[in-house]
Amino acid sequence: MAVTSAINYRLPQVEQLLQHPSLEKYIKSVSRPVVTNIIRNQLAVIRQSDAFKQKGVEGVNVIKDITQLCEQYRQQRLTRVINATGIAVHTNLGRSPLSTDLWDSVRRVNTGYSNLELELSTGKRGGRNGLLPALVTNWIGAEDCVVVNNNAASVYLVLQALASGKEVIVSRGEQVQIGGGFRIPDILLMSGCKLVEVGTTNITTSDDYINAITENTALVLMVHQSNFSIQGFTESPDIEDVARRLPEHVRLVVDQGSGLSSEQYADSETPLSRYLQLGADLVCFSGDKILGGPQAGIIAGKQSLTQILAKNPMMRAFRPGRIVLSLLEEMLVRKLNREASGEGVAQHTLNRCGTTADRAVDLMTQWQPWAKAVPLQMQVGGGSIPSETYDCYGLALSLPGKAQRHLDALRSMPTPIIGYLHGDKLMLNLATLLEEDLPLFKAQMGNYLQSLVKEKGQSEADAKAGGCDADTK
Ligand SMILES: *Cc1c(COP(=O)(O)O)cnc(C)c1O
Repeated sequence: MAVTSAINYRLPQVEQLLQHPSLEKYIKSVSRPVVTNIIRNQLAVIRQSDAFKQKGVEGVNVIKDITQLCEQYRQQRLTRVINATGIAVHTNLGRSPLSTDLWDSVRRVNTGYSNLELELSTGKRGGRNGLLPALVTNWIGAEDCVVVNNNAASVYLVLQALASGKEVIVSRGEQVQIGGGFRIPDILLMSGCKLVEVGTTNITTSDDYINAITENTALVLMVHQSNFSIQGFTESPDIEDVARRLPEHVRLVVDQGSGLSSEQYADSETPLSRYLQLGADLVCFSGDKILGGPQAGIIAGKQSLTQILAKNPMMRAFRPGRIVLSLLEEMLVRKLNREASGEGVAQHTLNRCGTTADRAVDLMTQWQPWAKAVPLQMQVGGGSIPSETYDCYGLALSLPGKAQRHLDALRSMPTPIIGYLHGDKLMLNLATLLEEDLPLFKAQMGNYLQSLVKEKGQSEADAKAGGCDADTK
């Protein structure tokens, strides 16, 4: 038969495909050249495929393949998501979201020119820190501060500038790894310092520190354990005692990590100001953990030391841009004025816990029979306060089929919802839902559950038509 000669091998042209209505949104979101490349590559793949060789265009679905690839690219874009994990400062979800108020208030200074390095009173070149040192002084009682891009950079800069070629004493219980690959011993090595380990994993005393000091010692570095806790037979040194007994040439630096100040999360936590009172020469911490500001590292304490840091050549590589500095400045002003927008997301989440029970019951009623209101725990996260949890409520959803499938589906929504699994249940913690996200959360979930009702109805109808009992489980 001459059927083979009728096979159509004419694939659409690239230009023609770019006009296809279903690609319009991808041109907007990932750009025309990227979509063009996807189309070219996919056409090449299709030409080589057996299905195409055997059946021509009838054997392939060009536009479906291309939109699927475009969708993968689109999902790579930074996008807003809804946090239903119960972890307020979530490393995978951008750590601390900023309040809309705060963001809006720095718009003008960032979309125009600014006095970033101009002293308005004299017309001369000025420093980049603006009001920040004054704010930090009033906030935690530090003489001065230096701001860098993140707290890992703080630690590196402090070590490099104050202790390169010298010995740094660190407790064995504080040689921690924070996140992916930031290990205190490695950073010490890279900054040119010699690590002197003291104490044991669970016990380090002030004597351990003091006895390890030589004429070559530059620093005692204390590191907040951040993402784990050791319980049981433990002893940490009396910081005040260590500080008092340190000789003139040795400084005490505390990597506090979270930026906890007046927040009342855990009695066991020492706030920044307290470390300085106890005699730490410098404290360093992140801007986007408990403080809840932009990503930054802040090093605060003795001016004689911050001046050395500020003059270090690495400072040029570590200094943040005006967006970060303006946000930090505005945030601290609001914080000192005790405005709600000056509080970090962790505090807001904690405040919200009490309202989650009513909300959970309300949603349970709306989303019968899938959802059940359940007591859950909220965590600060971001490697801060690892051992504390706070009571709140959320939803446990029992949905048809594998829970994993629904977890994935929620992540593919226009504004992805990030939940987690507990056994065969899909869990949504309501404490970490931002107020602004609530309407969208309800709408998207409502639609999704509605689609499951339809799906269920359809499969029951199919089952009946096929003469089988409907699976009503
Ligand atoms: C989080 C943390 C760091 C790293 O801070 P980044 O801002 O993530 O760079 C360093 N030290 C401690 C104790 C921390 O908790």
